[in-house]
Amino acid sequence: MKREGFDFYFDPAACGNCCGACCRGESGFIWVNKEEISKIARFLNIDIENFIKSYLKKVKYRFSLKEIKVAGENICIFFDLKSCRCEIYPVRPSQCVSYPFWDRYREEKHKNEVFEECPGVKRLL
Ligand code: SF4
Ligand code: SF4
Repeated sequence: MKREGFDFYFDPAACGNCCGACCRGESGFIWVNKEEISKIARFLNIDIENFIKSYLKKVKYRFSLKEIKVAGENICIFFDLKSCRCEIYPVRPSQCVSYPFWDRYREEKHKNEVFEECPGVKRLL
């Protein structure tokens, strides 16, 4: 899978042997907008107020999915360590859908991060 403006391609087959390196590790933000909040709450069959309370953290005026700490790692609250799967995969936030084609990985100073994190990312020759 290629995307214009990126000097790498992505092989989704790598996800099968990876156990969610992009869903765990250093602490970060997994942003969700209003529509995504409604969609995920509907998928989980809980009301929005409870969803926000249980699964989101407020960061200034935005919301991010909570993380949990396991053995020194920060893990997205929806990542199931036993199955190595995202529990909300069909309605995961657009930030997750667009990974690894994030604008920051076009920048020289951040480029190496994606090669280090994602085994499915390969340099275009
Ligand atoms: S880090 Fe890359 S290979 Fe691993 S699950 Fe995420 S997208 Fe797939
Ligand atoms: S929502 Fe799913 S795909 Fe996104 S970080 Fe969490 S576990 Fe990973």
